Amino acid sequence: TMEGALTARDRVGVQDLVLLEDYQSETAFLNNIKKRFKEKLIYTYIGSVLVSVNPYQQLGFYTPYHMEKYQGVNFYEMPPHVYAIADNTYRSMRNESSNQCILISGESGSGKTEASKYILQYLSVCSASNEQVEYIKSRLLQSNPVLEAFGNAKTHRNDNSSRFGKYMDIEFDYRGAPVGGHILNYLLERSRVVHQASGERNFHIFYQLLEGADDVLLSRLMLTKSPDKYAYTNQGKCAKVSSICDRRDFVAVQKALKVLDFSPKNIDELFCIVASVLHLGNVTFTQNEDGHAVVERQHEIQKIANLLGCQYEQLLQALTHRTIEANKEKMQSPLTVEQALYARDALSKAIYGRMFDWLVSNLNRSLTNKDLMRKNVIGLLDIYGFEIFKSNSFEQFCINFCNEKLQQLFIELTLKQEQEEYRAEGIEWEPVEYFNNKIICDLVEERHQGIIDILDEECLRPGDASDNTFLTKMEETVGKHPHFITHALGNSKLRKTIGYEEFRLVHYAGEVTYSVKGFLDKNNDLLYRDLKVAMSESKHDIIKQAFPVTELARLKRPETVGSQFRTSLNRLMDILMSKEPSYVRCIKPNDAKMSDRFDETLVRHQVKYLGLMENLRVRRAGFAYRRTHEIFLNRYKSLCPSTWPHYDGSPRKGVDVLCKYLDYKEGEYRLGKTKVFIRFPRTLFATEDAFQIR
Ligand code: ADP
Ligand code: MG
Repeated sequence: TMEGALTARDRVGVQDLVLLEDYQSETAFLNNIKKRFKEKLIYTYIGSVLVSVNPYQQLGFYTPYHMEKYQGVNFYEMPPHVYAIADNTYRSMRNESSNQCILISGESGSGKTEASKYILQYLSVCSASNEQVEYIKSRLLQSNPVLEAFGNAKTHRNDNSSRFGKYMDIEFDYRGAPVGGHILNYLLERSRVVHQASGERNFHIFYQLLEGADDVLLSRLMLTKSPDKYAYTNQGKCAKVSSICDRRDFVAVQKALKVLDFSPKNIDELFCIVASVLHLGNVTFTQNEDGHAVVERQHEIQKIANLLGCQYEQLLQALTHRTIEANKEKMQSPLTVEQALYARDALSKAIYGRMFDWLVSNLNRSLTNKDLMRKNVIGLLDIYGFEIFKSNSFEQFCINFCNEKLQQLFIELTLKQEQEEYRAEGIEWEPVEYFNNKIICDLVEERHQGIIDILDEECLRPGDASDNTFLTKMEETVGKHPHFITHALGNSKLRKTIGYEEFRLVHYAGEVTYSVKGFLDKNNDLLYRDLKVAMSESKHDIIKQAFPVTELARLKRPETVGSQFRTSLNRLMDILMSKEPSYVRCIKPNDAKMSDRFDETLVRHQVKYLGLMENLRVRRAGFAYRRTHEIFLNRYKSLCPSTWPHYDGSPRKGVDVLCKYLDYKEGEYRLGKTKVFIRFPRTLFATEDAFQIR
């Protein structure tokens, strides 16, 4: 509780970081969360923002008893908890009849997905219910194992790493009961389908199917049980993970798909697709005397054609040839082995990626409720945090752009919230100085001038366009931008740290060097038309729907990955902007997934990337502490003879009398309409200490 935390300040730190005396000091910040982490107090507030440190162990405070405890209580009366955030969000939605969202961010393995699951569970437990609602609640909860099977994988950072961004709306009716949901997914890491680093795995579903399917299903899918046999599952050399039981998870996925109303036929097709990708990975090519690619072991293609419901001849041809048009005449141009391998992997990625999109849209169909009226929503955003690796590519570029956008939203909304609270309370507002990262967002996304458009232009340009000409174009267009750095700027010192095929962006969270290698290819995301045609003529529902014929008729080039991402991100910003936000900022205490290790350097970086110091500064720029008059008076009334045991006037007047009696100085506090604002923590601590020794 508040009093507990205040008296034990030295041992467990403050439970709200705005109460740090030295709020500009990163070290004080770190010490505080470190102390708490050692005491298994993984949650700390910055005002209404929750900072969460991954405990890497099961803690005892997620029981039904705790869910009960947090229901309807005042935000600050209980120890910080993700349930408090969920509860507060839920109450605000109901009381103010407003749309809410909870934004969860942090780097991979910091606990975002776990937090989002706790929130979903809490919302399911705390909300009203009846039979129909129970049905929807179970669907909302069951969507998780399905998405995780197809969208999560073991990585170095996290055994259950989400390889896509996720935004989920939970819809509530006028009584506050959940009546439906809707999921938006972002940028699945499809390259994982065909390539995994050593020590990493492909998406869970591949191993689940191999481990969990019975003999009948396995032989129908023409699979052997062993992941070592497949090129797409044996590269990482770690098919078995001690923390994962693929067999059990497969049972859960099958059950969830049923609860979610996927038809037996569709479920079967899903597994056929997964199996077909495994078989595709084992397709190899040799070179004939003309230097053209020829499929080895053609019966493999027969299997794949069967599993995908498409024509064997057509698929075989499309894997080794492409149709070109010259002088209005169509011709079959043979591929080289290299091109054929590229086409094969492109097909695997496309099939898997489009199946994932199909899955999400069908989950949405199952979560849509047509009978019950929705009134308000709570959105949950679980999306990748800022990434800086040794080598950064197009994927990191997109992810970090996403984080720039979220940071901008965060700053705007936090400032706006502060401003609105002061206005509502009738307290004068003093503008806060802060770094506005809009300049970086513009550098990336501005029309014609921004990096995404420069990249698109190179992708469209016929002739000698390459990753390097893209770099040159950037240097010409944005070379002078203060947040863009290359060696071409004539800075000879940089040549040592930035290569000739790299550029560096000065992000709000720090500098990141990107290698341009693969940018054009990844942005284009090309799938040869012949393969699309073969897929679009499939007899199976999912493949047919995922490769619509209408796409082939379109003359316009498909939108590039970068443009698509920009569009969907801006749409997401609009969605979030229209809601009342709450924040959970997740931190990973160490890289070893250990429960008793707090790596200060690692955490310091995250505090920086998450912009937490900036957040604290904004929050502290005005008043550190604010509480309603009732709560403040109730707690401290015993310190003043005129307010003890009762004060007869309004709580506001009572607080006025109390503060004057306590000798608060003019600049140290303000009385708003409903709340008292205290500028410095020390003022509050003095009062609290007086209260404790009274
Ligand atoms: P992220 O989604 O940020 O990549 P996850 O939520 O998947 O990270 O968390 C990674 C792992 O850390 C989980 O699989 C779990 O083992 C552990 N973990 C995260 N949060 C908690 C928590 N609150 N309590 C216990 N373990 C946790
Ligand atoms: Mg995750």
